[in-house]
Amino acid sequence: MRLQGQRVVVCGGGGFIGGHLVKYLRDNGVDVIRAVDIKPREEWYQESDGLENLVLDLQLKEACLRAVQDGTVVVNLAADMGGMGFIENNKALCMLSVLINTHLLLASREAGVERFFFSSSACVYNGDKQKSSQAIALKEEDAYPAFPEDGYGWEKLFGERMCRHFEEDFGIECRVARYHNVYGPLGTYAGGREKAPAAICRKVIEAKLSGNDQIEIWGDGEQTRSFMYIDDCLKGTAMIIESDIREPINLGSSELVTINGLVDMVEDIAGIKLKRNYKLDAPKGVNGRNSDNSKIRQYLSWEPSIRLRDGMERTYRWIEEQIIRGAEGSGYLAPTPAYSS
Ligand code: NAD
Repeated sequence: MRLQGQRVVVCGGGGFIGGHLVKYLRDNGVDVIRAVDIKPREEWYQESDGLENLVLDLQLKEACLRAVQDGTVVVNLAADMGGMGFIENNKALCMLSVLINTHLLLASREAGVERFFFSSSACVYNGDKQKSSQAIALKEEDAYPAFPEDGYGWEKLFGERMCRHFEEDFGIECRVARYHNVYGPLGTYAGGREKAPAAICRKVIEAKLSGNDQIEIWGDGEQTRSFMYIDDCLKGTAMIIESDIREPINLGSSELVTINGLVDMVEDIAGIKLKRNYKLDAPKGVNGRNSDNSKIRQYLSWEPSIRLRDGMERTYRWIEEQIIRGAEGSGYLAPTPAYSS
């Protein structure tokens, strides 16, 4: 399938990846007919003109029927989620996103949608394989036997499974990508839902601006991760939607870094050195996680390749600009809830 010529609905279009995806698809000549999100429009990270931008609660079936109307491709990026600080402390909220995917699938079936995309996560992988910071790269089959991240990971694994059976039993073509940590400009960097790359940029910028040369790091900083720059995520998502890949597939960078290594990088970009305070009881997730990209290379002859340093430079500059401009009024600096760092 080519996306050009389809009528695409992007759910979660007011979010980080959704906002970028709407723009990316339209820049590539795709007819995105609608973007849908539960947030009031002034809080959307990006809003494109010339399409229907709808505020709906997609946990409700009626709202899903309205959302998918006249669409031939539905992209589900809507979920109640955030970084480790959020998902470890809000398991029920994370699991309630199951209503979004379930109702969107049911509505898509009723409306005769041809293709459905579900954004799954590396959090579906079996925790036993991620105990060591000497991360073994996770292959798609490592999701079973099932022992995912509690709450958020279970919801994603169930969502994947639901897509599989809607395809087998009802004939709606589903594509599923397991995103591994996506980062970049125009995303959450404060408020408690931000993830490590944005949180570290913000903390370094705040330390630099305030002259308080200290940084708090969650865990001992030796946990390893890979981070995918948003441009790779957009390209990979579009390719997976268009492809014949009928199984969940990793979409992530394989450039592994420790959190301490990421802090070194951001300090270098900022031109400062900070004293590190390790908060050992803070949520830090699994010890080691990386993406095995054999399968995506095999299917698409492509994998994410934007270097972490290059993506972090761009992300740092954007967050710095927001903070310096005093972004309070823009919706990016939500009040800091109790679960924030
Ligand atoms: P995000 O939080 O910026 O975007 C999700 C959007 O969904 C938000 O704008 C939110 O308002 C919206 N939403 C939540 N509940 C809704 C509801 N009931 N009805 C309508 N909209 C609702 O997150 P993101 O980083 O853009 O992530 C997009 C998708 O990718 C999510 O499904 C997420 O689980 C998945 N994912 C993201 C990452 C990552 O690193 N960013 C990693 C793995 C998976």
